[in-house]
Amino acid sequence: MAFKIIASQCTQCGACLFECASGAIKFKGETYVIDPDKCTECEGVFDTQQCASVCPVPKTCVPATSNSATDTVGAAS
Ligand code: SF4
Ligand code: SF4
Repeated sequence: MAFKIIASQCTQCGACLFECASGAIKFKGETYVIDPDKCTECEGVFDTQQCASVCPVPKTCVPATSNSATDTVGAAS
């Protein structure tokens, strides 16, 4: 599993980019995205998902399985 960024809520502050120990977050196009192949959910490194804990916007870094795919880049149903 992986986390994702809700693009419509992201302020593009960039805070998550520097916190991700897996290098899974990058700026792509006009927003930040999480590469699901690289995201480990911080397992074994941190107790909480660092992107979610540093993000100033509540519920913007969320588990990719949550059912809000309206603005998720490349999401398949
Ligand atoms: S959950 Fe952890 S590994 Fe995944 S994108 Fe966020 S900071 Fe990176
Ligand atoms: S920390 Fe949150 S608001 Fe800032 S770039 Fe990352 S997802 Fe967007």
